[in-house]
Amino acid sequence: MSNLSCHQTRRKVYEYLGDELDVKAKQEVDGHLAGCQFCKAEYDLERTISKLVINSSFSSEPNSNFFNKISNSLRSELD
Ligand SMILES: [Zn+2]
Repeated sequence: MSNLSCHQTRRKVYEYLGDELDVKAKQEVDGHLAGCQFCKAEYDLERTISKLVINSSFSSEPNSNFFNKISNSLRSELD
């Protein structure tokens, strides 16, 4: 059973995408995402951004600054 709050889940989403969570923690996040469309949307957005950064990081550097800008503004909205 997952009893994470939305706030806790959104913090863990970053660790989830960075592959920093253990299996149990991932299951807790998955459990919350399955029942919460708001956190699911946040997760999808972060995952999309992560992919863009990974794809673009091969060709040019400035995009990582762009990512940091977006990521920081998202984080400050969540806090
Ligand atoms: Zn939630």
